Order: sequence, then structure tokens, then C-alpha cells
Amino acid sequence: MFATKNVWHHLRGLEPYSLCDWPGHPCTTLFLGSCNLRCPTCHNHVLAWDMLALEQMPAVACKSFLAERAAWIHGVTITGGEPTFVPGLGELLWMIKGLGLPVKLDTNGMLPDVVRDVLEQDLAEQFAVDVKGPYNKYETLTGGCVNAVTAELNLGEIFDMARENPEAFYFRLTRVPGLTDEDVETARGYLPDGFDLIIQEYVAPRRSVHAQSDHETRRQVGDLVY
Ligand code: SF4
Repeated sequence: MFATKNVWHHLRGLEPYSLCDWPGHPCTTLFLGSCNLRCPTCHNHVLAWDMLALEQMPAVACKSFLAERAAWIHGVTITGGEPTFVPGLGELLWMIKGLGLPVKLDTNGMLPDVVRDVLEQDLAEQFAVDVKGPYNKYETLTGGCVNAVTAELNLGEIFDMARENPEAFYFRLTRVPGLTDEDVETARGYLPDGFDLIIQEYVAPRRSVHAQSDHETRRQVGDLVY
């Protein structure tokens, strides 16, 4: 599970203007490499597991881009990989907060202490949390990284935060192969009252990273600018 140095070392891309990453908020999206899970269906597996195959974006370029665009965007989405797994995430969040920009954080919810820290320090306004499926399928869904007991404990902590801060959370499930209608309804049933589960269609990864050229590997993360 690759995580090293500081948050800037993990910065692997920036999408200048996204209308879909934060619904209702035209935003810039930052991509942080590395992840604590090994989901076999991971769409961003190069970014998640092999970020060194992708060019690092210089911190100064990211800071100057956001400073110039701050007046034109409604916020910044931070995605991955798994942002809560990245050391020094707070430094990035403080920099963005200093520009007066709201932050949306995408997370798999398996590091709830980090989510709580970010929430309590008021460093993100919105958390989009993945619920991968029924607890008894988490071991399969995460490549053996999270068992049912741990999944229930971690998501239970996230759900407690959501009950206390309902405006700050929403929940998503990607309907990957192997999940049934019944699984989706089971996962939906975990959510606190008043929350719905947003269902995302699964998009298969194109090819193994080992078969890709550097150029193709970079393209897989999206049309990133740096
Ligand atoms: S949590 Fe997300 S980024 Fe990490 S391996 Fe699973 S699908 Fe990929």
C-alpha cells in the first residue's frame, strides 16, 4: 500500500473545470495517487496503485492555478486513489481554504479518523463516501483489504458523522460486476435516515497498466493539465 513523503508528492493531476465531480458546483478536481484498498474493479488503478507511473504535478503549478481560478470556480474536488490515505492531506486543504474555496472530498470511508479530523477542522464542506456493497462482500470488493467486521465498524463511524452533519455527506455505490439488486438494497439499508444511495454505473478499466505506454497511462487518469 503505497503512501510516502507528503501530499505534494502524491499530486498527479488537475482537471481545470468539472461540471460532474461535485454536482451543482463547477469545480477544479485534484487527483492524489495511492490507495489503502485493492478493489479488483478499480477504474483508476494506475493512480491508486502505481502512481509513480504518472508524472507528478509541481505544487507551485497547482497553487498558482487555483489562485488564478479561485474567482471562477465554486470549489475544489479532491479525489484519488484515496485522499484520506495521503500523508499531509491537511496541508493541501489549508492551502485551498486560504483561497476561500470550498472543498469536496471523495473517500472510501475506511479511514474514518481522518474524515473526522477534516470535518472537525472545517477543512471540507462535502464528503462523498463510497458504500461498496453489503458488508459480507467487502473482502471480495476490496481485494482482501477490508473484512465485513471492519467495513461495518468504519462505515458505522462515517454514518454517525453523517447523522450529526447531514448536509456534509452523501453516499454512492458503483454497481460493479457481482453486485445484485438485493446487494444494492442491502447497502442502501445501512444509510442513516434521510440519506439516499446514489448508484453509479460501472465503467470497466481499459487495460492492464503493464500493457500501456507512459502516454496511455497518463491518459487513463483523464484529460489532466499540468
Ligand atoms: S477505493 Fe477506489 S481508488 Fe481505491 S482501489 Fe478501490 S476503487 Fe480504486
